[in-house]
Amino acid sequence: DVNVVWMKAQPVPATYQVAVLLYDITPVKQIQQMQLDFVSNVSHELKTPVTSISGFTETLLAGAQNEPAARQEFLEIIAAESQRLTALIQDIIALSRGQQQQLQVTTVNIKQVVQNLLVPLQQSINDKQLTIQLNIATTAQLQTDQRKFEQVVKNLLINGLAYNRIAGQLIITGEKIGPQWRLSFTDNGLGIAADDQARIFERFYRVDKARSHHQGGTGLGLAIVKELVTTLGGQVTLKSQLGVGSTFTIELPESIQ
Ligand code: ADP
Repeated sequence: DVNVVWMKAQPVPATYQVAVLLYDITPVKQIQQMQLDFVSNVSHELKTPVTSISGFTETLLAGAQNEPAARQEFLEIIAAESQRLTALIQDIIALSRGQQQQLQVTTVNIKQVVQNLLVPLQQSINDKQLTIQLNIATTAQLQTDQRKFEQVVKNLLINGLAYNRIAGQLIITGEKIGPQWRLSFTDNGLGIAADDQARIFERFYRVDKARSHHQGGTGLGLAIVKELVTTLGGQVTLKSQLGVGSTFTIELPESIQ
């Protein structure tokens, strides 16, 4: 993808020389295209629940509210779609927070963060009869942005639970590797096929749209993880085998300053 600029060079007697300058404008165009795609995807994703909420509300107002069974069903749909809308908005805010490079660096206890984030997830852990194993030293510490770090851990925990099997395991391990902390989340759940692994960190990419939609996913969780981990000076990698399980690993500098 190139811009061709024709320029008249120094005239030489009886003839002309022509210089051709080739500029590669691909990276700029790609970023613009990605931004356009994102806005269009966000609009689409927001429109779906809003259409559903307004449709069912109108149906209720048009008379369905007088039939108890229909009223219950439609109100449940409205509640679920409102929750989905909230999740989407929260994720879009998290994503834009990731793009802000400003960091509020404090001392963060890794194990404490994981334990605190597991508290509100306890109900789904019990429902799915999952076993959680925490292999992190109580002294493990990071000098980092706590909110961004928490958002990363939360998204990986939620996926490790949501895409796990009944009575599956989630093992969270912290290791100090030189000046970095390596934190890995290993589940023995559904696993991810090789083709999907390459795309899984893209915004709105889901392996199985119907399944993820059903589980309240937005398709933004891993895009947020990647964005935030990068802002925190680290990296995220994935090892997975379909039907066996997945390990998501983040490596973060012990101190970002
Ligand atoms: P979602 O909101 O759909 O969970 P994510 O960005 O968090 O969005 O994940 C993208 C997709 O990657 C999910 O829809 C799911 O198909 C797959 N995925 C994420 N984590 C796991 C995991 N631990 N095991 C299997 N599949 C996963």
